[in-house]
Amino acid sequence: MDVIKMNNIVKEYRIGEIRLNALKNIDLTIENGEFVSIMGPSGSGKSTLLNVIGCLDKCTEGSYILDGNSVEKLSDNKLSEIRNRFLGFVFQNFSLLPKLNSIKNVEIPLVYRGVNGKMRKEMAEEALIKVGLKDRMKHLPMQLSGGQQQRVAIARAIVGNPSVLLADEPTGALDTSTSKNIMELFLKLNEETELTIVQVTHEESIAEYGKRIIRLVDGEINRIDIN
Ligand code: ADP
Ligand code: ADP
Repeated sequence: MDVIKMNNIVKEYRIGEIRLNALKNIDLTIENGEFVSIMGPSGSGKSTLLNVIGCLDKCTEGSYILDGNSVEKLSDNKLSEIRNRFLGFVFQNFSLLPKLNSIKNVEIPLVYRGVNGKMRKEMAEEALIKVGLKDRMKHLPMQLSGGQQQRVAIARAIVGNPSVLLADEPTGALDTSTSKNIMELFLKLNEETELTIVQVTHEESIAEYGKRIIRLVDGEINRIDIN
């Protein structure tokens, strides 16, 4: 099944009189269970594309179907519902809440879904075990290494069983060997739980963990490589 289906996506930014097409006629289909990397130089449209895929921003033209939902015309409220139900996000700088321990950070998306406290705790613990942090459940972010903080963020992203995990430069703040560990975790989650992963990176060695590499140049798909 196609979890992401984009046809003829255009994203135009206007700054006063100036118009800039950050995305031009993007056609992109991603199947359930794929692991895809989006690569490209700075300014090529990677963040813009990830923002549109992640329903953080709307496209100017084109159609976008996310897990059977036509999202291009939805209101902002509906979009945040869709984000919460279907997507998990991982960022370069982890974006954990500093005063909450690992379990409480991972519970956040479930709070928005109205899951009760006992169930939240169980689900958060299960997600933390999946990312290898069984013995770091009660730690605060500042008591964890960068790699461990990113694992907490990954647990938070997967705790609600999203259709797609979206990662924006997930290893951008990590050293080489920690980056490799995070990519191995992505591979494991992708293989064992058939989680669909879409990551943006500007590093070739990180992109290569994906089964498909979509190369953007100047807002267009320039090439797709299959590993
Ligand atoms: P990348 O993530 O590959 O560096 P971006 O998606 O951030 O590329 O940007 C693509 C193009 O769109 C760039 O020319 C950038 O300057 C422009 N752009 C991005 N966001 C905005 C915005 N909010 N307003 C105006 N122009 C933007
Ligand atoms: P990165 O490529 O490191 O992810 P971006 O280039 O996407 O960072 O920039 C980060 C933020 O700045 C985004 O929210 C993007 O929309 C905004 N942005 C990028 N380029 C411009 C621009 N030319 N004008 C206004 N906002 C911009």
